[in-house]
Amino acid sequence: MADHPKLAPRSTEDIENQMLVDKAECKISVNVVDFYHNNRMVVIETQEINETGKVIYSRFKLHLSSLELHAPVLANFLTQALESVEGTEENPVILPFTTREFTCFLDWIHDREWRPFKIMEESLVDLLRVSSTLKADDGISYAVSGLESLRLPSARMLQLVGDFHHLPEVHCWVGPAVKDLIQRPLGEITNSEAQQIAAAYPTIARTRENIQRLLTQVSQRSFALKLADKDQQEEADLCLTHKECQKAWKSVWRENIGYLLLDFQKPLTYRELLELLQNTDFPKVNPSCKARMLNWLSRKTDYPGMKELVEEAVASIEDIYHVPRRGPAPENPKV
Ligand SMILES: [Zn+2]
Repeated sequence: MADHPKLAPRSTEDIENQMLVDKAECKISVNVVDFYHNNRMVVIETQEINETGKVIYSRFKLHLSSLELHAPVLANFLTQALESVEGTEENPVILPFTTREFTCFLDWIHDREWRPFKIMEESLVDLLRVSSTLKADDGISYAVSGLESLRLPSARMLQLVGDFHHLPEVHCWVGPAVKDLIQRPLGEITNSEAQQIAAAYPTIARTRENIQRLLTQVSQRSFALKLADKDQQEEADLCLTHKECQKAWKSVWRENIGYLLLDFQKPLTYRELLELLQNTDFPKVNPSCKARMLNWLSRKTDYPGMKELVEEAVASIEDIYHVPRRGPAPENPKV
């Protein structure tokens, strides 16, 4: 230790006066014990080119402990970098993110009550991008559930699946987005949505056309008042005027039901059809025949062939976005 010059003894009064002066001048300080090991400080740089073509450098000085919990892969990499004298002011570690993306990631890591991370589409997408590159699992989960909670338009969700198809966490977004998009008239899909789903658009258009074709067939077939199984056949035999029932059913269907399936803007869903049949008066149909028919129809969940059309659309869009197909359900082990 360096020798300190010897101080002349001072009176208590002198010391007290000096303290008052120091206090007034804010000179009094306390000793700081350094628990914050400076050899674990790391300097990171991000580089990006702005719209005028100028390279913008941003520097982040971080303590490794702040990264260890939520970004262990990055913390590990930086620890090794520090050992080879990287991550210093003179030789910063350069990471492949924009300033905004990396700031956003740090905002999430330093999320505090008084400075909360902003749950917005842009910040969550930035967080997802950085977290997926850094294999920061907590960040991925946080961003995925945050984006799900925002209930973004289906076209945007599909676009995000395209951007992050390497993350299994986003694969489950395809099904609901495709199901929503094929229900909508193509004319309602805006130009920007069409751009977002560019690669999937032809499949969506084709599926929508196939659905129209299927509904046209259903509307013409009228779900003839026929019977599904032997038990019901026996019951129907009790109806002495069943031919009349069938004729009357067809006629009401033709006049009041069929055309609603062909509404281009909003064709009847299967659920809506069941409700409509329930509430429609079929004057010349034996009430027990109507009840039996509705009972049979309500055991199905959709128009015949609809499930297959939707599944086919989802599967081909999964292929477009390189989402691996979900394998068949595991078979029961042989006894
Ligand atoms: Zn009948």
